[in-house]
Amino acid sequence: MKDYEIKLELLFYGVRLSNTVKKEFITSGKVELFNDYITCTGMMISFNNQYVTCKINENSKYIVDFVNNQICLKKDNNIIKKIIIIEPAKYMINNELNRYGQPYSDYVVIHKFRARIQPINGCAYDCKFCNDNLYEYQKYPIELLDDALQKAIKENEIKNLLISAGTPKRNNIDYEYQNNVYKYFGKKYDNLPIDIMTAPRGIDTNKNKDSYIKFFKMLKVLNLADLSVNLELYNEEARRKYIPLKNYYSRKEYLDYMQLATEYLGNNIVKSGIIVGLENEGDTLKAIEELAKRKIRVILSPYIPFNNIGKSPTPEVMKRILLRAKEITNKYDSTLSSKYIWCRHNEISF
Ligand code: SF4
Repeated sequence: MKDYEIKLELLFYGVRLSNTVKKEFITSGKVELFNDYITCTGMMISFNNQYVTCKINENSKYIVDFVNNQICLKKDNNIIKKIIIIEPAKYMINNELNRYGQPYSDYVVIHKFRARIQPINGCAYDCKFCNDNLYEYQKYPIELLDDALQKAIKENEIKNLLISAGTPKRNNIDYEYQNNVYKYFGKKYDNLPIDIMTAPRGIDTNKNKDSYIKFFKMLKVLNLADLSVNLELYNEEARRKYIPLKNYYSRKEYLDYMQLATEYLGNNIVKSGIIVGLENEGDTLKAIEELAKRKIRVILSPYIPFNNIGKSPTPEVMKRILLRAKEITNKYDSTLSSKYIWCRHNEISF
């Protein structure tokens, strides 16, 4: 089996932890699991050039075991890979608090070399496959975000930043707050490439080209690695059903917005996530093609069941979509998967 095929199986089956691993690492507190959004929960491991976050599944045929002082991945009792367990940062494990008694991890979460800054707790949107919108909506002070980021950088090797988390409410105060977050971190940490994840938006709440262009111009002066605008789904009915508020921008408006962003920011700076498994494969492939022909980087995420909706795509489905996505992106001289391999831990990727 190729490494990426193992990764796809791990995304589907997750891993079981051997009793030795449980005792040596988990119970002793030496190793902690990630407990983040639904897409980032479980054990993050790496082998060769693969990073993958695996759910913990007592019935999985994949076992993480400790053999001859080496952590290994076993399948059906055979060792197939030596692996490294990627742990959350120490301040996350120890739930360290800032001077106001709040966990640093509320503000900044680390996945290997990437620090994710979370300006907004909760979310103004209501995507049905997401658990972020279950938390109370709150804008965090920039000072406290920076405080946490300084700690993260001091104690860890950080190679890129992501500003993500919830979508702001559609009012000019919250939009202005988010603009200030982008400008503040983009300028202060201009040695680190920055990935900004947002729903389509302008400099303010106006839904017009002038407002969008002002927003892109504001981002263009930053050390921007990516602007992530996740289309999520292609099928119109599925969009209405699963992403009702995101669908405030229609599919066409999403695509037009990303195309305009590409004109201002450059090819393959804009990237877009597609959820695989929540709509039929034909629609997923259409989404990939629409993105690729606009030189928008395609990110494939396996659907992780939530709220009793749908099922995860099988490894076979993931592989089929991935291979077709590769052909399509090659055809349009476009790109597939996140630039940094540690950011691909929850992606369907090679
Ligand atoms: S916009 Fe993003 S964070 Fe908000 S509910 Fe949708 S998927 Fe979750």
